[in-house]
Formats: sequence, C-alpha cells, structure tokens
Amino acid sequence: MNLVNKGTAYWQELDRQHHWHPFTDTQALNAKGARVITRSKGVYLWDSEGNRILDGMAGLWCVNLGYGRRELVDAATQQMLELPYYNNFFQTTTVPSTELAAAIAQVTPAGLDRVFFANSGSEAIDTAIRMVRTFWAVEGKPSKTWIISRKNSYHGSTIGGTSVGGQGAQRAQGGPILPDVALVDQPFWYGEGDGMTPEEFGLERARQIEDKILELGADKVAAVFGEPIQGAGGVIIPPSTYWPEVMRICRKYDVLLMADEVICGFGRTGNWFGSQTFGMEPDLMTMAKGLSSGYLPISAVAVGRRVGDSLIAKAGEFCHGFTYSGHPAAAAVALRNIEILKAEGIIDRVREDIGPYFQERLATLSGHPLVGKVEGMGLIAGISLVDSKSPKKFFEAPGKVGQICRDHCFNNGLVMRAVGARMVLAPPLVITRGEVDELVALAGKALDLTARDLGRL
Ligand code: PMP
Repeated sequence: MNLVNKGTAYWQELDRQHHWHPFTDTQALNAKGARVITRSKGVYLWDSEGNRILDGMAGLWCVNLGYGRRELVDAATQQMLELPYYNNFFQTTTVPSTELAAAIAQVTPAGLDRVFFANSGSEAIDTAIRMVRTFWAVEGKPSKTWIISRKNSYHGSTIGGTSVGGQGAQRAQGGPILPDVALVDQPFWYGEGDGMTPEEFGLERARQIEDKILELGADKVAAVFGEPIQGAGGVIIPPSTYWPEVMRICRKYDVLLMADEVICGFGRTGNWFGSQTFGMEPDLMTMAKGLSSGYLPISAVAVGRRVGDSLIAKAGEFCHGFTYSGHPAAAAVALRNIEILKAEGIIDRVREDIGPYFQERLATLSGHPLVGKVEGMGLIAGISLVDSKSPKKFFEAPGKVGQICRDHCFNNGLVMRAVGARMVLAPPLVITRGEVDELVALAGKALDLTARDLGRL
C-alpha cells in the first residue's frame, strides 16, 4: 500500500482518537503517542522518523524468517489470485491447506499427524481445550474435565486462553473464566528454587502436578497444558528434570499432555518444536506464530493418534471450526515458510551455530551489576535484573525497572521486551553473527543507562 507520508504527529493523533491497543494502558500511551513502525528488512524495523531498530523480539516471537522475504509475499499473491478464499467445512478442501497439514505432520514428533487449523494461538488453545474434553467424553469418562496449567504461563487471551493461562491480572478481568482449571507453581529455578539444585527443583515442581491430580482425582483430570518454555511469562526455561517427570506423571494417571508450541515451534529452540528439545511426547500440540513467520495469521493443533483416532471414530461431527480455518493464502505462506526453513537449514543453524553464538555473547552481560542471571536456549533468552546479585535480591518494583530498561533499548535502536524485571529476547532465526554482536552491544548500553538511572553506576 502506498501510504502518503502524512507524518508522525498526524498518525499519532489518529491513533489516539480511534485505536485501542492490545495489552496496553491506553491512557498512558495516548499521553506520549505510539511509535509508528513503517517498514522492515531482515532483522530491522524503521519508524516514521527514519530511526532503525533491531528487532530482538521477531515481532511478537513470530517473524522467524525475518522481514522482507519475497518468496512468502509471492506465495500469498499467487494464491490470492488463484483462490483467495474457500472453506474446508462442507466436504471440500483446498490444495494449500491439505498440503500444509501434511507438511506439518512431517515435522511434528511421531504420531502427531492430524492437523486442525485455526487463525491464532488463542484459537488453537480453545480448540485444544474442546478436543481434550470431548475426547474423554467419547471415551466414556465425561468427568475428566479439569485442565492443569502453571502460574505465570500464557496461552492467549480468548476466554479459553485466559482461563488456562496463569496470568493473574488477565484472569482477573472479564470473568467468570472457565471452570475446571487448576494452576500449579512454575518451574522457575532462579526465581523460586533457593536451597535446591535445578534438578531437585524441577522434580519438586513437576510433582505439584501429581499432587494436584491426586487432590482432584485422576478420574477428573483431562490434561496438563504447558509451554515447553514459558515465553510471555519471561522465558522460563525449566530444569532438565521437569518435563520428563511431568510426562511420567501424565502417563501414570492417564492424563493427556498438551504442549503449547506457539512460541517454541518452528525452530526457536534449535529443533522444529520445543517438545523435541525437552524430550516431551505430547498427545497434542498447538502452534501459530512461526508457522507462517507471522506474515499471515494462521495456527493449528496437531493431534496424536490416540486422541485423533478416537475423536474421529467416535465423536461424529466435531462441532468446531472457524471461517478462516486453513485459509488458503495463509496456508500457502506457511507451506512456503516450512520449505524455506528446510531448504536453508535454518533450524540446524539455530541449534549448531547461531543459537550457541547468541547464548555465548549474551552470557558476557552476566558481569553487569544489574544482571542476576542470563538464561537461554537456541534463539530465546531471559535476563533477570536484580537489586543485588549476592545475596540475591529482586527489585521491589520490578515492572518499573524493566520498563526503564525497555525504553532505553527502544530509544537506542533495539526491541527487547520487559516482563517485570526480566528482559526477554527472541530475534528472527536468520540473525547473523554481526547482528548478534550489535544486539548484545545495544543491550549492554541499555543496561548501563538503566543502572545510571537507578544510581548504580
Ligand atoms: N500460546 C502461547 C505460548 C503464546 O505465546 C501466545 C501468544 N503470545 C498464545 C498462545 C496466543 O497466541 P495469539 O496471540 O496468536 O492468540
């Protein structure tokens, strides 16, 4: 679209008048005006003032192939000229949605070979909630309705996503939320595991799930939902003992495991899915974001044989679906995206080259007076800012500190997100070594400016 350059002040005023932003204190935003992002290339964004910004968050953890990939644009254009829309509801399918389902089945862990499409991560989560409960109903166990999830997890902002998510402020708005959801503590060792080794702590947190199953009764519990790495909660990387123990518990009590791969999927941790990185064998998984590198909205639930075979054989019509489930243009882009990830060996590069380099370079920030711990894997990382490193003391107003750091990043040409006082990064998977060096230098500068503001330097 050829937008006439009417200027930053004009767009900010329009925005103030008419645009209600997601997850934003609109009054505070309106007081200063939104930054207007106008163009992009590779790992960089530009704003309407011509400032260049290194996008350390790949948009919202989604632009895995980076900005400006012509092949993805061409895939959408060609499909839109041929068949811009048709649905998959009434005995029909489209070529891109069918081929994409098969392409997803090829890269998911063994057995997860049936794919149901939706448009967003939240819709995929809602779909998974309905699937697991319907599964138990058709298996003759309709009382298995409870879903166990973790505090500080994020699974979207529909009423279903809000209900199975563990974000307190979000759950407090717009209720009542869905019944039959239980939350247990998260596996955040640096924040909550004092006095235990990471391995002990991982087992302890996994066993909270067992305790919860025993408390509710195994005949009441449908599934455990979990992100392999909690992204929006601050990039919480579980100890190595956590997921294997959760799997053991799920199997013991015949509870399904649902991996929310919306962030970890499509290469972020150095494998196609976080489940592979952590040795999880989920019964079903949700995916979105990196599925199309964010170029068009599309999401999916990949379902394993046990749940898929049973639902298909016994449920008859699954009364669920969205007008745009498997939208042909979005599916064509996702298909091309998967082809490029494969053809360019991008995920192997995350695992073997650029991921380790990114983590090694980020670790150099550990010596900074504000940095308590740098944790990461592949191209995702969380940096805990602390009031004191030793003895460890967290900030009393973590949100304020994180915001200061985030604003210094943004004003100096880097997108680094703040979750409380945990700074998080998830750059496009195509980032080069030189760009990683630039990112780490900009992050270091923002940390210095934050320390100065806090009177620490
Ligand atoms: N699950 C996870 C793990 C997510 O990170 C997100 C989005 N950040 C969602 C679900 C919801 O996805 P969407 O915003 O596309 O609805």
